[in-house]
Amino acid sequence: MSAPDLERINDQVIGWRRSIHAHPELGFQEHATSELVERELTRAGVATQRVARTGIVGLIEGARPGKTLALRADMDALPLQERSGEPFASVVPDIMHACGHDAHTAMLLGAAVSLAPQRSQIAGNIKFIFQPAEEGPGGAKPMIEAGVLENPHVDAAVMIHVLPLLPAGVIGWRTGPMMASADEFRLEILGRGGHAASPHLGVDTIPVAAEIVSALQRIASREIDPLESVVLSIGTIKGGYRTNIIADKTEIAGTVRCFNESLRATIPDRIARIARGICDAHGARCELSYELGYPSVCNDTRLANLVADIARQTGEVREVVELPAPRMGAEDFAFFAQLVPGCMLRLGVAPPGLEDPPMLHSPEFRLEESSLRAGVAVFRELALRLPSVL
Ligand SMILES: [Zn+2]
Ligand SMILES: [Zn+2]
Repeated sequence: MSAPDLERINDQVIGWRRSIHAHPELGFQEHATSELVERELTRAGVATQRVARTGIVGLIEGARPGKTLALRADMDALPLQERSGEPFASVVPDIMHACGHDAHTAMLLGAAVSLAPQRSQIAGNIKFIFQPAEEGPGGAKPMIEAGVLENPHVDAAVMIHVLPLLPAGVIGWRTGPMMASADEFRLEILGRGGHAASPHLGVDTIPVAAEIVSALQRIASREIDPLESVVLSIGTIKGGYRTNIIADKTEIAGTVRCFNESLRATIPDRIARIARGICDAHGARCELSYELGYPSVCNDTRLANLVADIARQTGEVREVVELPAPRMGAEDFAFFAQLVPGCMLRLGVAPPGLEDPPMLHSPEFRLEESSLRAGVAVFRELALRLPSVL
C-alpha cells in the first residue's frame, strides 16, 4: 500500500473515531456504530456478518492458504457525562467513550478497509471482530456462542486496548497474566429485630456484618500464598432502619479479582465458611450469592512473542515495551483467549506534555489521536505476517 493511501486511511480513522466518540452507545445498543462499521466494510468489499445483535464480523480470505487470525475491537461506551473539553465530545447526555473503544473500533476498521485490496499478499484468513458490550454485560461470550471462532476456525486472537499510562505510540505487551478475573458476591446476613434498648432480645446483624467485613480481608492476607494476587473489596454495606431499631438484616456486597483460575474457584467457599462461622457464633444466618464475571486474560507465550516481534518491526510504533505487571481490571477478551491462543496489547495514548493524564473511565479522559496510526499499523502488519507463522 502506497504512503499517500495509508495517509488517507489514517485520516479516515481519525474521522471515524471522532464521529463514534460524539455519538457513543452503551452495550448492545451500538446500532449506529455497527452500521458505520458494516457500511465501511461493505464499501471496501469485505464480507460482513451480524453476530450477537450489534456485533459485526468482517472476513478477508487471503489469496494463499494459511491459518486464521482474529483481530478484535470493542464498540461500547460508558454511562458517564463527558468533561474532556474535546470539540467532538459526546452529544449524548450521560454516555461517553471513556475507555477508548471508539479508538479501538476506528483502528480495526482502518486496518480492515486498507487490507481489503491487499488480499494477494495475505496467506490465510483475517477475521475482524467488532464486539458489543465489553463494559457489561459482555459481548464476547454471545459472539462465541454464535460461532464467531468457527467457519473458518480461528487459530489465534489479538486485541489492542489504549492505555494513558504509556506515551503515545508505544506498544505494551507481556506474556502470561494480563488482566484479572472479576466476580461479584452478595451476602445477606439475617438476625432478629427488636428495640435497640434491649439488644439481648434480638440478634443484631450490624456487629455481625462488621466482623465479617474485617474477617474477609484475611482471605487475601492470611489464607492465600502471598506471591499470588487477590483483591477482595467490599463495595457496599446496607443495613438497619434507625438508631433505636435492631437491624434484622444487613447485606454486604463486593468484588473479587485474581489471575489464577484454580485459586479463583476456591474463593466462594472461603467466603461462605468465614461468613457462616461468624453468623453461627452470634446466632445469625446468612445467604451467599456469587456471580462469576469475566475470567482472567492470560497472554499465550508463543503468540505474544510473535506479536511483539512483529510490533517491533512496525514503522509507526514508537517503542515496544514489556509491561512489568498485569492489571487488576477485567476484559471479556478473556473468553476468546480461553479457547484459542490470545494476546492483548496495550497502546500508549498519553497526550504529550501532560504529567498526570486522566485515566480510563474518567469523565476527563482524552487520548492523543496521532497514536492511532501505530494501532492501525500493528493490526495491518499482524494480518500480513502472523497467519503464516502461527
Ligand atoms: Zn473500560
Ligand atoms: Zn475497555
